[in-house]
Amino acid sequence: MFQKILIANRGEIALRVLRACKELGIQTVVVHSTADADAMHVRLADESVCIGPPPSRDSYLNIHQIVAACEITGADAVHPGYGFLSENAKFADILAAHNITFIGPSGDHIRIMGDKIEAKRTAKRLGIPVVPGSDGAVTDQKEARRIAAEIGYPVIIKASAGGGGRGMKVALTEADLEIALQTASTEAGAAFGDDAVYIEKYLEKPRHIEVQVFGDGAGRGVHFGERDCSLQRRHQKVWEEAPSPALNAEERARIGNICAKAIADLGYSGAGTIEFLYENGEFYFIEMNTRLQVEHPVTEAITGIDLVHEQIRVASGGGLSVRQEDIKFSGHAIECRINAEDPRTFTPSPGTITHFHTPGGLGIRVDSGVYSGYKIPPYYDSLIGKLIVHGRNRVECMMRLRRALDEFVVDGIKTTLPLFRDLVGNADIANGDYDIHWLEKYLAKEE
Ligand code: ADP
Repeated sequence: MFQKILIANRGEIALRVLRACKELGIQTVVVHSTADADAMHVRLADESVCIGPPPSRDSYLNIHQIVAACEITGADAVHPGYGFLSENAKFADILAAHNITFIGPSGDHIRIMGDKIEAKRTAKRLGIPVVPGSDGAVTDQKEARRIAAEIGYPVIIKASAGGGGRGMKVALTEADLEIALQTASTEAGAAFGDDAVYIEKYLEKPRHIEVQVFGDGAGRGVHFGERDCSLQRRHQKVWEEAPSPALNAEERARIGNICAKAIADLGYSGAGTIEFLYENGEFYFIEMNTRLQVEHPVTEAITGIDLVHEQIRVASGGGLSVRQEDIKFSGHAIECRINAEDPRTFTPSPGTITHFHTPGGLGIRVDSGVYSGYKIPPYYDSLIGKLIVHGRNRVECMMRLRRALDEFVVDGIKTTLPLFRDLVGNADIANGDYDIHWLEKYLAKEE
């Protein structure tokens, strides 16, 4: 087991990882920018190293400074959290070259999944169902027209290097195709320095369903069931739940087993999420994230298993603590992402939190790094906390969520709490009847 882990992140996820390390009796080092000197994870860590000024590229993305911090403090492993360097293959390779363990998969697996064309090809080879589309990058209009006619309109053009929903364009008919191809490619080139794009069938009313997987790196793979993250705004998840209200036990086992087998065959190590669009009873792979997800706590709530403990165990060579038959699902969990944003316009609302009071009681978990008097710096993501509620079934979970949202107090800044108070009373949400476009349509109506 590791003696000392360096946490290369900030905010709620840095605290989340720190808690797991403390439970396992592992020493912790955190790195932080000058803007985060007062952050909770800095206060609670055994050691901290300031690695640069506020902009991420000079601090949380500065590989040299982070490796130097490992050397100075004698850390033997790095947990990257999510975002920042968590899916940076070069970072994983550099750490390996310095004999520091990256708590995550190999640089090669990160590389494959970071290239969406390669990821899709790999998924297909491993027996995972994919969205019908082009086999690789599409460059000329004639080929694009042929492929689009074959799969049928509408189609979506996506950037191979894509992320965060950028570089995607929908073509409803052949008349839109030329422009869609051009704009997607230009946008991709500008955003990612790679203008390769590919074509997929555009699914009109899918749900976003993702499977949590783990590999031990030695040919064993397991799944921890699925999460439904269909409630999105601008391709950003807002509310996540497990299990999905749309799946039955048989569908869950079928897709879970396909994913677990693929992970085993790939020789994958650590946590991963295989994302699908789900429509008319069919799953269509869109991408795989090779890291811990923001929404992992809903899976922890229904399985009772600490996924960060598992990541650390696997990375240290101790293998998984569970076999597939040990993973049992119990009840229902929902996570609300509480952002420092206006609940209608989603404009960021940094500033000082004058009062912060979190709900409590059975089945309630709040993951947050903020506190009363904390000043939210304007440089980073606006997520300030996550409310995770667990109940024996979805109805109980929703009742508890409503109560917890009423108890939650965040003064001094705007947050997305009022949006969740509205959603929890909505009939479609109560019925679990929503797709990936539901939230945007709802917000447009409310305006
Ligand atoms: P990114 O990495 O940029 O987030 P994804 O491939 O994960 O890109 O897709 C993000 C979102 O875009 C999905 O959750 C879905 O809302 C939409 N999307 C992607 N592919 C399709 C498709 N083939 N049909 C319909 N919507 C899609």
